[in-house]
Amino acid sequence: MRDVTQPDLALLAFAREAKPNAYAPYSDFRVGAAVYASSGDIFQGVNVENAAYGSSLCAERGALMAAVAAGCTDIDAVALAGDSETPTVPCGACRQALAEFNPQMRVIMGGRTDEVLVTTLDSLLPDAFVRGYLDQDEGAGAAE
Ligand SMILES: [Zn+2]
Repeated sequence: MRDVTQPDLALLAFAREAKPNAYAPYSDFRVGAAVYASSGDIFQGVNVENAAYGSSLCAERGALMAAVAAGCTDIDAVALAGDSETPTVPCGACRQALAEFNPQMRVIMGGRTDEVLVTTLDSLLPDAFVRGYLDQDEGAGAAE
């Protein structure tokens, strides 16, 4: 884990701000997320559940899609705040989705308490499947 910085707490505040807007009538587990793009822009997301459970989407991916829709694909950090007692960690699918845009991005995690954890995405998802694997000319392997 990394030391928690002021910018980490600032981004986490954006995640906490979004959390009440989560649509979680089935799990009642709300999550807010915020993505910090290298442009300085911040994009928020919340988990959005669906009666067809598989159609649900996590907060982190919601924020990520908003960033990409705005043309921001260079992502420096993501923060998420969930309803758990301990800081909420991103699920495996979100880790993979985020790795597409920066396997080394900072990940700031919060829950219901003041406890905050900070790490990097590559420590949560070592050896991520990234673009380099699809480049036949480069051969298999991550382009890092
Ligand atoms: Zn997720």
